[in-house]
Amino acid sequence: MKSIPSERTVLVTGGAGFLGSHLCDRLIKSGDNVLCVDNLFTGSKRNVAHLLGLSAFEFLRHDVTFPLYVEVDRIFNLACPASPIHYRFDPVQTTKTNVHGAINMLGLAKRVRARILQASTSEVYGDPEIHPQVESYWGRVNPIGVRSCYDEGKRCAETLFFDYHRQHSVDVKVVRIFNTYGPRMQPDDGRVVSNFIVQALRGDDMTIFGEGDQTRSFCYVDDLIDGMVRMMNSEKSLTGPVNLGNPAEYTMLELAETVLRLSGSSSKLTFWPRPPDDPRHRQPDISMASRELDWEPRVTLEDGLMETIDYFRRLLNSP
Ligand code: NAD
Ligand code: UDP
Ligand code: UDP
Repeated sequence: MKSIPSERTVLVTGGAGFLGSHLCDRLIKSGDNVLCVDNLFTGSKRNVAHLLGLSAFEFLRHDVTFPLYVEVDRIFNLACPASPIHYRFDPVQTTKTNVHGAINMLGLAKRVRARILQASTSEVYGDPEIHPQVESYWGRVNPIGVRSCYDEGKRCAETLFFDYHRQHSVDVKVVRIFNTYGPRMQPDDGRVVSNFIVQALRGDDMTIFGEGDQTRSFCYVDDLIDGMVRMMNSEKSLTGPVNLGNPAEYTMLELAETVLRLSGSSSKLTFWPRPPDDPRHRQPDISMASRELDWEPRVTLEDGLMETIDYFRRLLNSP
């Protein structure tokens, strides 16, 4: 991969994860120097293996709950497990990553006067009473449930971002990311798109939680990364939070049937209990992103799923 030399160094925390590694690719392509920081809890060096030899790319194994003293111009803060099975595995560490991680990265941004973008989430809306979700909605989150380490951790991180902005004039950007999928999700990640595709390709039973009538809106990774970069490059006055996601909404049954059809699989649908506090509906209102960032997703669910199915087919067939 060719890169044009640049003076700017961009820190990507969680850079060896699914979204982070695509972001590193995109930044390197546009000529930035990238410092990828990751503790490899859910990420993998394989995701950035193709970047390791480049002089514009550096990988640092580090846990963001500990201070980090480096000199950078911009920070994308993505470090945090995103799949329910992973963030529930060590919930105290998840809260620490969200809260101590945010404090450390904001402290770093304050010291070096770097612009910093937080990868927040639609989970800040919890199980929403408003549909689709607009940024002005404050959400309905259980503070003491099994998802709270993630949801409340991300909410507290948003609070810290806006307090560092008000109190210390840190140049902040917050995006609320809705369900995003694509190549480099882990096969055992536990999220619905990777689960369904891997099950379909292996001929295993498809695990539908509940009746499968709950909905999600799925954004393809390339669209999402484009939105994040646009947000980072936007006017200083635009702090967000800004929703990023694809408003096309599907039930989990529709998703399972689409994956079966596109992969040509004859796996059977099986039904399992719904996890606690699992939101029933989720759909982003993206009028702010469209207005302020001139952004909207372009990749349809079918096209994005085809790319992702191809990726997993190659991965599962590789030795
Ligand atoms: P991911 O699990 O693939 O990536 C997270 C990365 O953070 C991993 O590489 C992991 O090893 C790293 N990490 C975790 N804890 C860390 C720590 N303490 N120190 C350093 N690194 C640490 O998940 P993803 O889907 O790429 O998500 C990236 C970010 O985007 C997360 O903050 C997530 O909350 C947010 N997000 C993602 C989605 C989505 O649908 N993919 C939706 C909403 C928000
Ligand atoms: N910090 C860091 N890198 C830096 C500067 C700060 O990791 O370059 C961390 C440090 O651990 C600190 C935290 O960020 O505790 C918050 O920094 P801030 O300056 O806001 O507060 P203080 O240093 O007073 O705790
Ligand atoms: N889900 C499912 N089968 C699975 C994994 C998830 O039916 O094997 C459901 C889950 O209950 C939720 C939706 O799919 O309603 C999206 O789950 P995911 O973990 O991908 O994301 P999140 O719940 O964080 O939106």
